[in-house]
Amino acid sequence: MADPLNVASCLRAMRRAGAAGEPVPADMAAMWAKVCIEELYGMQKPVRYECRRRGSNDPWEEAEPGDVTHPRRRNLVIRALYLHPPVGKQQHRWPPGSNGDGRCLDCDETEWLAGPECRPHAPLRDHRSAMPFRITWLIEPLEKLLYLTKYLNPFDRAKWRKETTYLIDRIRDHEKGSQP
Ligand SMILES: [Zn+2]
Repeated sequence: MADPLNVASCLRAMRRAGAAGEPVPADMAAMWAKVCIEELYGMQKPVRYECRRRGSNDPWEEAEPGDVTHPRRRNLVIRALYLHPPVGKQQHRWPPGSNGDGRCLDCDETEWLAGPECRPHAPLRDHRSAMPFRITWLIEPLEKLLYLTKYLNPFDRAKWRKETTYLIDRIRDHEKGSQP
């Protein structure tokens, strides 16, 4: 093959071989595959990993490093996305009429501080959504509520302190009782 070995030359050779209708030696087919894979994916790192619960049809969400290293433990399916060639830079969108002091409608960066590229943040995902519910998750918010009762009037404060303390104690007892 006189062409330099790249994806275009391999595709050209494959089409020529197909048009000629002759059998192609196995090592030729292997070389085309090798060149295409290396040129398309070889040195690239995935630009993004995405995950969703195993067996579900949930929309794909951006994966965190822990998802990628422990997909089984978290019951996730991971996919790696490669972009080749890279997508063009996304431009910020400034609110109409802002004079250099507005915030981007997509990424919320301030106009005079913003970098050249708009990178909207992926919505944060709470890992608890993939886990069975645990009643002990309630303790922390209840303790926060207990703390916030200091802003109530004395009557309500006493009432809600009693209520939250009772619930926290019951959750702790329940958890002790359900330990093996
Ligand atoms: Zn932006």
